[in-house]
Amino acid sequence: MTYDYLVIGGGIVGLSTALNLLRGQPGVKVAVLEKERDLAAHQTGHNSGVIHAGIYYAPGSLKATLCRAGERATKDFCDAHGIAYATIGKLVVATDDLEVARLHRLRDRAGVNGIDVEAVDGARLRELEPNVAGREALLVRSTGIVDYRAVTRAMAEDVRAAGGEVHTGVEVTGIRETADAVDVDTPGRGFRGRRLVACAGLQADRVLRLGGVEPDFRIIPFRGEYYELPPQRAGLVTHLIYPVPDPELPFLGVHLSPTIDGRITVGPNAVLGLAREGYPKTAVNLRDVADFVRFPGMWKFARANLRTGIAEAFNSVVKAGYLAQARKYCPDLTAADLRPHVAGIRAQAIMRDGSPVEDFLLRRTARQVHVANAPSPAATSALPIGELIAAKVLDNKHAPLSEK
Ligand SMILES: Cc1cc2nc3c(=O)[nH]c(=O)nc-3n(C[C@H](O)[C@H](O)[C@H](O)COP(=O)(O)OP(=O)(O)OC[C@H]3O[C@@H](n4cnc5c(N)ncnc54)[C@H](O)[C@@H]3O)c2cc1C
Repeated sequence: MTYDYLVIGGGIVGLSTALNLLRGQPGVKVAVLEKERDLAAHQTGHNSGVIHAGIYYAPGSLKATLCRAGERATKDFCDAHGIAYATIGKLVVATDDLEVARLHRLRDRAGVNGIDVEAVDGARLRELEPNVAGREALLVRSTGIVDYRAVTRAMAEDVRAAGGEVHTGVEVTGIRETADAVDVDTPGRGFRGRRLVACAGLQADRVLRLGGVEPDFRIIPFRGEYYELPPQRAGLVTHLIYPVPDPELPFLGVHLSPTIDGRITVGPNAVLGLAREGYPKTAVNLRDVADFVRFPGMWKFARANLRTGIAEAFNSVVKAGYLAQARKYCPDLTAADLRPHVAGIRAQAIMRDGSPVEDFLLRRTARQVHVANAPSPAATSALPIGELIAAKVLDNKHAPLSEK
């Protein structure tokens, strides 16, 4: 049997792509292949659960456009499928002069991105959040929270309902492209498709290599470690509380996030991971370490970000350092409030010159499209990303090999 489309990866991007392929061409044969027993086992199931509004991203970038569309699409999808979400809003809090200046730039950018934000002074901030202190803040009302595992499972049900197949526990170990098909090996059986889309997250570079293309980037795992507040602190904040991000850094900083199941997480930080899919702090995978140690881009990136890297590693080990970051805007927090919570691991593509890829990155051949980088907010943006990828797959015939 030849499928029209094989999709590697049962995270939110893979499922959304499969769903959009089926929506665009009803009746086509689609199979999703996921190596873990459960869907959403990696980034999609280990994130902050935030439906981002898209205030941060460069106007006109794919990230900005897709995030705005994704915020609405995610909420519509949840409404249609009875999935719980809450539009609790987010406060980005500035605590000193430098952050106030950056906050003003962020407010301007939000305006250009067409997102409704409210400038909040210190007194109003206290009214909105009595346990949060800051000089000024930006209120983003449309930001929400959701469980992306639930969203992914519902997408899988829709894929099956539309005639698609979702196979779990099926690891792709080989890919061969010929003039008219793509053959995929898995330990149990082979699959043949006319076209292949890979949305392999933390394994994106390796799956691209399986597909016959030597990647010009590496996936570097960045752990996002969280703490969780004890139940008696459940009402500490009612909005998402974010620091003002440093524009030089790709990650957003330690934030307080109420979750849809009634907890509050603190985090995530961003520490170099020694295992792409190992969640305990002590997890080490020698192949993963060897992969980044041998990659020249990693050393260039490390040199350029040495100070931040050391500070993040220190705060990862020393709880007081981590606590200090959150206490900047939530001074009541104590060390006893920070209870362990499972980490997430970001798949960050780094190029040979050491630059981190901040936007989506695709690589393709005549019959394959590989999502090389799908950074945050790709969970929020997953529905329009899937639509975009489905469109790219369709006009792949004339596509160049690589595209940003
Ligand atoms: C700590 C953290 C916090 C985040 N917070 C947010 C947030 O609040 N809001 C937001 O919008 N985004 C957030 N993100 C980003 C978001 O979670 C990711 O961008 C998104 O989940 C990426 O989805 P994906 O499907 O590309 O990857 P994944 O969810 O990682 O899925 C890839 C899948 O491919 C499978 N796979 C890999 N290789 C193979 C193979 N050979 N054969 C078969 N299957 C294979 C993997 O097992 C995996 O299930 C966060 C990410 C992290 C890590």
